[in-house]
Amino acid sequence: MTGILLPCRRCGRQVFSSEVSEGLCLDCRVDEAVAELRTEHARLSRKRERYRAKAANAGSVDRQIGRLEERMATRIVALVSDEKTASAQLQRTLEKARESRFDLRSLR
Ligand SMILES: [Zn+2]
Repeated sequence: MTGILLPCRRCGRQVFSSEVSEGLCLDCRVDEAVAELRTEHARLSRKRERYRAKAANAGSVDRQIGRLEERMATRIVALVSDEKTASAQLQRTLEKARESRFDLRSLR
């Protein structure tokens, strides 16, 4: 990593210019690329919670969530060429998606 430090225009973090593209750091580029998938993930997770609360079979929702997570992975791989970096970004994205479900639930 070389170059000067620049602030990301979305999160404001100082990042090396070599990691910045269109003014955004890698985390923010990934977040934007999967934003609507994350929203859908949160919606399906809430649906799954409702099914489970009623002791209903949530298998089909589980599969939908699984497919959604695969689409997230595909988008991240398309965006990040380095395999290790892509895998770390996917991990971060899935953690955030799964955490947001708990954030939303705690607001109820
Ligand atoms: Zn950023």
